[in-house]
Amino acid sequence: MLKWQLIWLIPTHNINRGPAKGGIRFAPQVSLDEVRALAMWMTWKCAVVGIPFGGAKGGVICDPHKMSSAELERLSRRYATEISILIGPNSDIPAPDMNTNPQVMAWMMDTFSMHQGYSVPAVITGKPLAIGGSEGRLEATARGVQVVAREVMLNQGMSPDKCSVVVQGFGNVGSISARLLRELGCKIVGLSDISGGVYNPQGIDIHTALRYSKEHGSLRGLPASEAVTNAELLELPCEILVPAALENQLTDRNATSIKARMVIEAANGPTTTEADRILNDRGITVVPDILANAGGVTVSYFEWVQDLQRFFWAEDEINNKLESIMLRSFQAVLRKAEEQDTNLRMGAYLLAVARVAEATEIRGVYP
Ligand code: NAD
Repeated sequence: MLKWQLIWLIPTHNINRGPAKGGIRFAPQVSLDEVRALAMWMTWKCAVVGIPFGGAKGGVICDPHKMSSAELERLSRRYATEISILIGPNSDIPAPDMNTNPQVMAWMMDTFSMHQGYSVPAVITGKPLAIGGSEGRLEATARGVQVVAREVMLNQGMSPDKCSVVVQGFGNVGSISARLLRELGCKIVGLSDISGGVYNPQGIDIHTALRYSKEHGSLRGLPASEAVTNAELLELPCEILVPAALENQLTDRNATSIKARMVIEAANGPTTTEADRILNDRGITVVPDILANAGGVTVSYFEWVQDLQRFFWAEDEINNKLESIMLRSFQAVLRKAEEQDTNLRMGAYLLAVARVAEATEIRGVYP
């Protein structure tokens, strides 16, 4: 039986501000509607942080955890071949998303390059350093989460060392966000992955959790912690909740039970529209995904620029540029929200849609 099903779609949402940009997701439940929504969020996200890209996304229905490395490579190369007529440094530049990583990006870049007859590193971002990846890309999304979390705490007069944090998802974004929030001074009290959650109100040692998860393949059974389900995890007492796994985790069923004072949306679309309304009415600050997790696409943009120039920057330079873009974007969103007397999500959308509309209007309609 076929172990995977290819969805040939890189739905492109909008390219008026630049080439399409978005990640490729390998997951058993990924669907056309999900990928369409993710493509749209990419358009708004790139506009919020002011980088010259439009939005796209791609997906393959498969369970990469049940596949060998050789199967994953064949799948990645076949997918890259199918989409090779759409992607390119000037048209559509994919990146990693759930269950895809630098190795997958390398196979795809190599496949595209073989078709061209020469290396085209700028066709995809999130690559390993050895083939034109960028310093700081692996941590970039989480670094952006750290900057917005710090700023929102500052804005609300909360000190990081008085804030406890729960993070759902312990992959690239969740695990590094937890580590960087700990470095900021926050106490990490809850963590989870697909196998379930772990809780310790006294604080979980993040380095132990990282080591344990690497050794055991999951957080299940982490010493000095109590097991909780993913549903229970979201309702744990804490100041900051960071959903960093997948969509639709905060819904009308659990939004009334969320105890956090602020939600930093590291995942894409973790809050349903109904839940968003409930959280807003309850006075819980939500930093929207299109701002909170935009650090990843920002350093992807740096990677693309470096690949095009064949000139690479040091990690410090990248982190400083990322910090200044995230800070500027957070402040612009906050200002917009205050001006319009609305929340951060609406502030971010007002800013993003206006930027895309401006580009659309100025370009006009062809022919
Ligand atoms: P990842 O594959 O590295 O990690 C995903 C984590 O979520 C894993 O720990 C997995 O066990 C956990 N998980 C999966 N299903 C779960 C479930 N049902 N309940 C609880 N946990 C579950 O993925 P990632 O790259 O860290 O992406 C996480 C989220 O962040 C996604 O929404 C992605 O779109 C978004 N995002 C990622 C990036 C990036 O640079 N990687 C950038 C922007 C946004």
